[in-house]
Amino acid sequence: MYWPNGQKIVAAAQYVAKTDGLYAVYLSNFRCGPDSFIWHYVTEELKGKPFLHLEVDEHSADAGMVTRIEAFLDSLKGAEMNEKKEVTVFKPRPSPASPPKNRTLYFPYMHDGAYLIAAAARSIGVASEVLPKQTGEEIALGRKYTSSKECFPMICTTGSFLKKLMEPGADPSRMSFFMPDHNGPCRFGQYNQLHRVLFDRLGFKDAELITPSNDTSYQDIAGDHGQKFRINAWKGFVSFDYLRKIYRETRPYELNKGDSDVLYEASLRKLEHCIESGSKGLRKILAGIAHDFMAIPVDKSRRKPVVAVLGEIFMRDNAGCNGNIANRLEDLGVEVLIGPFSEWISYSTYRFTRDSRWRNDRKGVLKSKIQGVGQEVIVNYLIGGIKKFVDHEKDVSLHDMLRLSNKYVNEFYDGDPPIAIGSSVALASRGVSGMAAILPFTCMPGTLVASVSDSFRKDHNNIPFLNIPYDGQDTVSLDTKLQAFVFQVKEYAAATALTQLVSSHQ
Ligand code: SF4
Repeated sequence: MYWPNGQKIVAAAQYVAKTDGLYAVYLSNFRCGPDSFIWHYVTEELKGKPFLHLEVDEHSADAGMVTRIEAFLDSLKGAEMNEKKEVTVFKPRPSPASPPKNRTLYFPYMHDGAYLIAAAARSIGVASEVLPKQTGEEIALGRKYTSSKECFPMICTTGSFLKKLMEPGADPSRMSFFMPDHNGPCRFGQYNQLHRVLFDRLGFKDAELITPSNDTSYQDIAGDHGQKFRINAWKGFVSFDYLRKIYRETRPYELNKGDSDVLYEASLRKLEHCIESGSKGLRKILAGIAHDFMAIPVDKSRRKPVVAVLGEIFMRDNAGCNGNIANRLEDLGVEVLIGPFSEWISYSTYRFTRDSRWRNDRKGVLKSKIQGVGQEVIVNYLIGGIKKFVDHEKDVSLHDMLRLSNKYVNEFYDGDPPIAIGSSVALASRGVSGMAAILPFTCMPGTLVASVSDSFRKDHNNIPFLNIPYDGQDTVSLDTKLQAFVFQVKEYAAATALTQLVSSHQ
């Protein structure tokens, strides 16, 4: 628990639990991010003792509060008369950072890059698989065992994990689930803690969670093989980002519907196979993929307006968990640019260096610097020669993102906001005509991005910027919002083209 107030709340609940005659009132605010997790731990600590949870918002009325307080006081009378029972309290407990050998490691689906990280794990001898893409079934299962107030990705991953654990014949003692640790400031680092409590509560205590930390840029994941795994996984992410980019730049222009989808799937399997075999010949495979995409018949006589899909990393390219945003936008007549996944790893490496420097940890600085340089070398080696086949003008360096974010969100705010806002600032002057920022409903960093997006828009010629809070409910209003957004994007693109034409003739 990295929130000091959360630590105090849980400690207070423990004190109340062991003190006769003392009861708790838990006051929280509607949509409070930390409370959505802390509440679970408090509920465990106070098992067997009534407590009152009052959640307030600006609409809360006195009458409702009074009724609930009266009901709570009544229930206390009953509780005093009841005999005390022994209860088992399920608490978060430490999980290993690297997977034990005799288990299959399951990765939750978050985008197709997940297949390549699982392949990288297999390349060092760790049996691993990607869990199926989330559907309504996983989401419903996740909701059943959570309060639905947690982050939407937490609900989706819970559903994926539990579905696997609940399969007939599943043996939890042979299963590990990948869920990285994080040191805040948002809720991500709480996922594995609450998953642990849920597993234990549901009787899956033998199932393991594998929780490498961002403190060391996830290098602990593969124990002795950490370096090899990390390099191979990085190659996988770089390859995946390239494949996704060339696919998204081809699909809206294809003459035979479905050509790009078929080639994309085949290319992804080739990459998976190559990464699993230690990445031998990867550069050649990528060059082949680039040429195959170039051979797809297209009509690129007129480039469609480009929309950047930014935002929360788990959701932005996860069709089952974001309402299939990318394809819906494309169907409305734009080209979609999805923020690369590798930027998150580069960002982790940058934070590893920065935090090591702050801690005066010279070894960490050196390690992270080598890691960063190594990553750059790999990118240049793999895609230096095939960059020309994609619109690489729109690649934004991490340095630029952080620098450009500062006007709206300080670069030291750790998480998605500096990346989303910094990219938006950079892309606004690189031919992008609109930004769609996906945010899980109640997402803390996402709310911050939404709150500064209006200032960003005003400073950038009113470029369309759509915040899409999503919680799995696909509504008609989302369709209407997307249509209105794409209309604005097209108007903006036309006006920008006209301005450029006029200035080129002056
Ligand atoms: S970024 Fe948002 S959705 Fe993701 S963990 Fe943080 S608060 Fe939750």
